[in-house]
Parts: sequence; C-alpha cells; structure tokens
Amino acid sequence: MKIALYPGSFDPITIGHLDIIERSARIFDKVVIAILINPRKTPSFSSEKRKEMIERSVAHLRNVEVVVSSKLAIEVAKDHGAKILIRGIRAVADYEYELQQATTNMALDEEIETLFLVARPEYSFLSSSVAKELARYHCDLAKILPDTIIDEVEEKFR
Ligand code: ADP
Repeated sequence: MKIALYPGSFDPITIGHLDIIERSARIFDKVVIAILINPRKTPSFSSEKRKEMIERSVAHLRNVEVVVSSKLAIEVAKDHGAKILIRGIRAVADYEYELQQATTNMALDEEIETLFLVARPEYSFLSSSVAKELARYHCDLAKILPDTIIDEVEEKFR
C-alpha cells in the first residue's frame, strides 16, 4: 500500500490545500494529513479545531486521515508507514524554503522522498494568512476556504 504524508500547519485549511489533498488521494492508496505543532508559530486555531476543520473538508475522500503531532515530519511519516512527504509549491519563494526542508529530510532519512505538487494557478496566491486577512476585512471567502469551514472562520475574525 502506497502511503503519503502531507504535513503542514493548516491554520486553517484552504481550497489550495484541499486541491493538493484531492490530487494526492488520486495518486496514493492513503494520504495522512499531519498537523504539525510548531513551537515557533502561534496558531490562530487550536490543533484540535484545525483537525476538525480538515476532517469536515475531506469527508468526501475515503482514503484520507488527519493526525496531530509535535514530532518531526519524517518521524510522523515513519509512524504511519509513509515513505513519501507531499508539499505544495506555489511560487519560487516556496521552492527555496521547500528545497532546504527536503534536503534536510533527505540527510535525516534517505528512505523518505519529498514529492512536490505544483499549485493550480488559480490557487497560487492562496495561503492561510491571506484567508485570515480577508476574513478580517469581511471579504467573501467562498473562493478561498472549503464551504464547510467558512462560517467558523468568519465567526473567529469578524
Ligand atoms: P507550513 O507551515 O508547513 O508551510 P502550510 O499549512 O502553510 O504549512 O502549508 C502546507 C503545505 O501546503 C506547504 O507545502 C505549502 O507550500 C502548501 N500550500 C499552501 N497553500 C497552498 C496552495 N494554495 N496551493 C498549493 N499548495 C499550498
């Protein structure tokens, strides 16, 4: 069984993340989404809330699971039998950071490969921070967030 891990903050999940998840779920037998707790970041939503929001957004996908962890991505991958880490690339700026992460992970564990999926052009400007900024200004979030989480994000920021 080919299992992939998609690690990130997902604070909150956007339709850009969801697109990467749907595409990965078509390539792999199982996709484990890992909400990684980063002690250097102060999230807007608790990890439990983020997990709930992702679970609601991926309810239509049978081969996707969501976990929360404070371990390194490669450790979480090993725990779940995943040999592939999925990351999304929106622009060159993402690539520089992702390249560093991927080569570090390569040095830590040669068995685990990082696979980059290129963002759809219509989602390449999207990020969780953009979503939160627009929510603060009462903008329409329909083209940014999965339908199932819009009310919750609006409530938090308005
Ligand atoms: P992190 O804090 O690890 O960067 P994010 O939740 O911001 O976590 O992103 C997780 C992954 O999803 C990253 O690889 C990021 O580049 C990718 N990603 C974020 N937004 C998009 C998008 N709109 N389209 C495609 N990939 C995206």
